[in-house]
Amino acid sequence: MTGAVLALQGAFAEHEALLHTLGIKTIELREKKDLEEPFDFLVLPGGESTVQGKLLKELDMFDELKKRIDSGLPVFATCAGLILLAENIENDDKRYFQVLPVTVRRNAYGRQLGSHHMLLDFKGIGQIPATFIRAPYITSVSPEVEVLAKEDEEIVAVQYHHILALSFHPELDMDGRLYRYFLEHMAKNASDMASGTTSDKANVLPFSA
Ligand code: GLN
Repeated sequence: MTGAVLALQGAFAEHEALLHTLGIKTIELREKKDLEEPFDFLVLPGGESTVQGKLLKELDMFDELKKRIDSGLPVFATCAGLILLAENIENDDKRYFQVLPVTVRRNAYGRQLGSHHMLLDFKGIGQIPATFIRAPYITSVSPEVEVLAKEDEEIVAVQYHHILALSFHPELDMDGRLYRYFLEHMAKNASDMASGTTSDKANVLPFSA
């Protein structure tokens, strides 16, 4: 299985390093022709969503990626990546892929609060370390979106079909469990469906790297 990591700006190298520890190959998406390489899932890293969104459009990668996400490409998104996917951004006029029916608030913890670190209860996994950096959180979700983690009352992790989106940065804590969760529940299924080895979208197969 190969993951494509959007490598225009932000914390993409850390995702690659973590995926390599799980035996997953990665490619970097830096320009349009990189989209011609085969890959099974997409990683949208943290960084600055406005910069990433602008570059995606300037480099003419936006429409092709949106088309693929719309047709079921599994996506693992952190922080700015969550903002790029959100249908609505509460405190910004810009919109990007709009494939995840949630509303996010950018820099939701205040610009002064650069970062914080904590243990979070994650549904189906248990306690995980979570590092937040000028993070967004989710202020509302459509009923079909599953909430996987909250910090106090704020939603910080969701799953929606083939999309896993997080406010925080698991790649900075070198904790592979969320990636395994994604690979088992979303990416492996999609890859098997594409290769015709299963026809049941709800069928969750055991992960093997
Ligand atoms: N504040 C950034 C934004 O609005 C997100 C921060 C991050 O990705 N760590 O895009």
